[in-house]
Amino acid sequence: NILQNNSEIRSSKAYIMANISQLVSSLRETFQTGRTIDLQWRIGQLNMLLKLLDENRDQLCNALKRDLNKHKFEAAVLEVDYCRNDLVHCLNNLSEWAAPEKVAKGLLNVMDRCYIRKEPFGVVLIIGAWNYPVQLNILPLIGAIAAGNCVVVKPSELSVYTAKILEELLSRYLDQDCIKCISGGVPESTALLAEKWDYIFYTGNTAVGKIVMQAAAEYLTPVTLELGGKSPVFVDKDCDLGIVANRILWGKCTNAGQTCVSPDYIMCTKETQDVLVGKLKNSLKTFYGDNVKTSNDYARIVNDRHFQRIKKLLSTCKEIAFGGDFDESQRYIAPTVVINVKFTDQVMQEEIFGPILPIIPVKDEDEAIKQIVKGDKPLALYIFSNNKSLVQKFITSTSSGGVCVNDTLMQGSIPSLPFGGVGNSGMGGYHGKFTFDTFSHKRAMMERDLALESINGVRYPPFTDVKTNF
Ligand code: NAD
Repeated sequence: NILQNNSEIRSSKAYIMANISQLVSSLRETFQTGRTIDLQWRIGQLNMLLKLLDENRDQLCNALKRDLNKHKFEAAVLEVDYCRNDLVHCLNNLSEWAAPEKVAKGLLNVMDRCYIRKEPFGVVLIIGAWNYPVQLNILPLIGAIAAGNCVVVKPSELSVYTAKILEELLSRYLDQDCIKCISGGVPESTALLAEKWDYIFYTGNTAVGKIVMQAAAEYLTPVTLELGGKSPVFVDKDCDLGIVANRILWGKCTNAGQTCVSPDYIMCTKETQDVLVGKLKNSLKTFYGDNVKTSNDYARIVNDRHFQRIKKLLSTCKEIAFGGDFDESQRYIAPTVVINVKFTDQVMQEEIFGPILPIIPVKDEDEAIKQIVKGDKPLALYIFSNNKSLVQKFITSTSSGGVCVNDTLMQGSIPSLPFGGVGNSGMGGYHGKFTFDTFSHKRAMMERDLALESINGVRYPPFTDVKTNF
């Protein structure tokens, strides 16, 4: 009983808050012992993480169902199995990624050993967001462990059930001297950010991203900021609009629009808009039947605050083509398409992060490009067109974290592409090897012998005429 009481006290919020500094110092001490540098330790921990995912797939999916009403298919494909695939890819390649990397040498260095040594930063902090609460904590954790760091993971307090199960499972499966999961909200994040870290990996909104970066600046800690913004879609007139509608609506309705790379709004000509609306309506019916609310496949808004925010946004929309209904008791908001939207409308002033899809009629692609360039650099840019030169024009005239031509969200599905933003949508990229690289310091190594001093001595003063006449 005493032991149980002790462990309960140690995991209580008050105890954690009062002992964050001590926890970080103890991680630092463990890091200094070199335990996490050992490749076998890293592989062992990654295998334990794999075991965690395999043995608790259902539990994790259930937590996601309770937090966001994610269907098991979405929870598995976009969260649990998604992490598993990244993890297996990492395990298959880690020895190669972690090995010293030979570099090109000039004549003066023929005798030297020049290479890049991949070293862990040390003790790192991962702060996750609520919308993909398994993926956004586990994916960076994979890279942090793979690179040999000690880690603190702080899941979002908004996805309550997932945060709880992550905290329980990570402490059960992983080496507690090196990897800690601390659940909690703003007070815990604030206390954690006051500590000195060797790397901070943050996912969430841009305003908090600035708070994180300011805290990191105190110790010149490097950061990755995975932020959000409004990801635009352009639909060209030459497309098969039935297919386009499927792909956009799928991207928008996944997790009820609560996806960082969700297609935020569509730009197309008025004529395209008028046909596309009907196609989007058809897609909606095919996906969810006559009543979206009774479909098991459609998620809910994470909490009341976000529900009220989206509801308010909805109330500002003038021409709702379909959708628009909601049910507060379930935090349900119907997929809603709004037409003839203007860039000055309220729905265009913030990231929607919910199931509202505005369509803005534009004259042509030049007007669309002009609007994209005028705004903050988005996390994703989606272009639907069969016209290769039009696609190129979009790519070369704009900047964004990523681009996906003729689909949505799929650019995040392969580990060989870096996932991340630029400008206001963030800095740094991860997934696959990019996560390992994110958490590794690339140490420049030159090892020379003490021989050949006569050649090496050329650089020493005095700088005689013989030396300088070249
Ligand atoms: P959130 O509310 O869960 O916040 C993110 C994290 O920051 C949480 O762990 C939270 O505890 C912490 N936090 C909140 N306020 C804080 C403060 N004042 N000080 C310190 N820490 C604080 O998530 P959110 O911000 O609502 O997430 C949604 C946003 O994140 C959207 O903009 C979305 O586009 C973006 N996002 C980006 C990615 C990406 O990969 N680029 C992924 C998911 C979400």
